[in-house]
Amino acid sequence: MIQLSDRILSMEESATLAMSRKSRELRAQGKDIISLSLGEPDFFTPEFIKKAANEAMEQNYTMYTPVPGYDDLRDAIANKFNRDNGIPYKREHIVVSTGAKQSIANLVMAVINPGDEVIIPAPYWVSYAEIVKVAGGIPVVVPTSIESDFKFTPEQFKASITSKSKMMMFSSPCNPTGTVYTKEELRALADVLKAHPNMVVMSDEIYEHINFVGHHYSMAQFEDVFDQIVTVNGVSKAWAMTGWRVGYIGAPKEIADACNKIQGQFTSGTCSIAQRATIAAVNADPAILKDMVKAFESRRELVLAALNDMPGVKCNRPGGAFYVFPDISSFFGKSVDGKTIGSAEDLCMYLLDKGVALVSGEAFGDPTCLRISYAASEETLTEAMRRVKNALAELK
Ligand code: PMP
Ligand code: GLU
Repeated sequence: MIQLSDRILSMEESATLAMSRKSRELRAQGKDIISLSLGEPDFFTPEFIKKAANEAMEQNYTMYTPVPGYDDLRDAIANKFNRDNGIPYKREHIVVSTGAKQSIANLVMAVINPGDEVIIPAPYWVSYAEIVKVAGGIPVVVPTSIESDFKFTPEQFKASITSKSKMMMFSSPCNPTGTVYTKEELRALADVLKAHPNMVVMSDEIYEHINFVGHHYSMAQFEDVFDQIVTVNGVSKAWAMTGWRVGYIGAPKEIADACNKIQGQFTSGTCSIAQRATIAAVNADPAILKDMVKAFESRRELVLAALNDMPGVKCNRPGGAFYVFPDISSFFGKSVDGKTIGSAEDLCMYLLDKGVALVSGEAFGDPTCLRISYAASEETLTEAMRRVKNALAELK
């Protein structure tokens, strides 16, 4: 019998993808399941982007591309970073990959040696810790609390650094909490980083444009830490392009070159047609996303109002992304029909049985919460919240 590698055996399946698979299977069996498990916009890719892809095919953009992406795409991305984020990246700093997920994997493989510590404030996005483990790194998970809007403080950052620390990874707007860091808060974290010139920060900004609190700030805009930050971004979320598989980094040149080298052995450049379409997306004025952001904002209000009306459920007020991460620990120990809820995972399975698929907080490093993705119509969300409320009320 073939024995699988220790590497793969130590890794968990992606909880978000696992839950979306499970709800698809139940639906195929004829069950009425509302899935709020996957972080995926329910909008279609804008027409002008699809048109760019059609043109690319007609113009025979069908061959291998340069490994880090077409030159004009990398220029367009560098221009986007200058325009939207005030970060002076140039073509040489940009690597385009098969989704931001690959960008993160490339970075971790390029920087982390076995035994290196990677500081990950929790709640964090499911794949961070697993990618670090695959590289032989040690995820050092630092919990934050709902009371402080799940923000990682400079004091916590400082206290978690050891001689083995190599990287810190975080997202703003955050998946799963929706937390958005202010410029001052990022500056204070950058001050800690600056005192540790051998450390790098991965700033995951994929929800940049889905922001209800005003301006988005990037840590790499601070000149004195520019050489220590890798900015991850992509077109999946803002431009409703999850299936096209295009993500990118802006990084110090040595790290960009290293990511390019890994990508050249693992996957080569991402899909040529998707790259041409991405030029249209990153060159577009983000102001055209206004209506989509408004739709997400009113869904946030709907879900928050419903959750705040459920006794025992505690929420922060997310400033961005399309998730709410309520604390549901007050239900632990409660029962229905002889079944006792012992964990967020149990509650998730119970709610799935009641027709709503959510993701347990365990996979995001916080076992007291659940993640709700509100990238669904208001009608769907209203029905989902009704089901959750009734199900929770049955627990005694
Ligand atoms: N980072 C975060 C925080 C995400 O939520 C996602 C969603 N999949 C990704 C990265 C990866 O995005 P992509 O679809 O571009 O791989
Ligand atoms: N990022 C999304 C989520 O968190 C998509 C799923 C995934 O890539 O894991 O649900």
